Amino acid sequence: MRTLILSDLHSNLEATQSCLEAARELGYDRVAILGDLVGYGGSPDEVVKVVQALDPAVIIRGNHDRVVAGIEQGEDFNLLALQAALVNRRLLSAESRDYLANLPPGPRPLGESCLVAHGTPLDEDEYLVDPDAAALLFRGLDFFLCFFGHTHLPCVFRKTRETVSGLLPVPGGTRIPLRDGERYLINPGSVGQPRDEDPRAAFLILDETQRQVVFHRVSYPVPKAQLRILEAGLPPLLAQRLQRGI
Ligand code: ZN
Repeated sequence: MRTLILSDLHSNLEATQSCLEAARELGYDRVAILGDLVGYGGSPDEVVKVVQALDPAVIIRGNHDRVVAGIEQGEDFNLLALQAALVNRRLLSAESRDYLANLPPGPRPLGESCLVAHGTPLDEDEYLVDPDAAALLFRGLDFFLCFFGHTHLPCVFRKTRETVSGLLPVPGGTRIPLRDGERYLINPGSVGQPRDEDPRAAFLILDETQRQVVFHRVSYPVPKAQLRILEAGLPPLLAQRLQRGI
């Protein structure tokens, strides 16, 4: 069983399509989506429709999905994120807004010993960036493997019998073997707004037969995504950052 894991698509249709094309070539059986389909980018309605058509085995909401869907008003958002969310809300069809509004919160199970979460399995809005915080999650919860998003940084926190270590950011092409007796918190990175100074779209494939995850990066037509952002009347900074992956 091979699972395509996508997170933080952020209304970037070009990045989403390029990931799906690359993943189709690699081969996968099912899809898991870790939230933040929308926000920041210029194609929220198109991305929601693409995701719906994938019929994900598991999908959860992210913080941007809540605000764009109108469940929350984004009081805790910075100005840039809030402006983008309000423009995204205007660009959504009623059907897509309903789909977003009904996405469940994480964590949700993916198979028997695996979870998916947006921030962490305890808090959908927490940014998980260091091994100490990961250690608390390993201690407090029972899972072998948890995929999470939200930080837009591809990373692995690995618990062995002795220690919890972090690998971040993880370069594209990295293969992580999954070993019995160890436990993992893994972030695939962001499809639509990478922030590790690699502008290529990020995704990951979990291969349960081979007992491994592989991180992938794929180039996509950034100028096209930038044009959609500008045409939608979104802040130009959101277009500029895609070029540098920040
Ligand atoms: Zn995000």
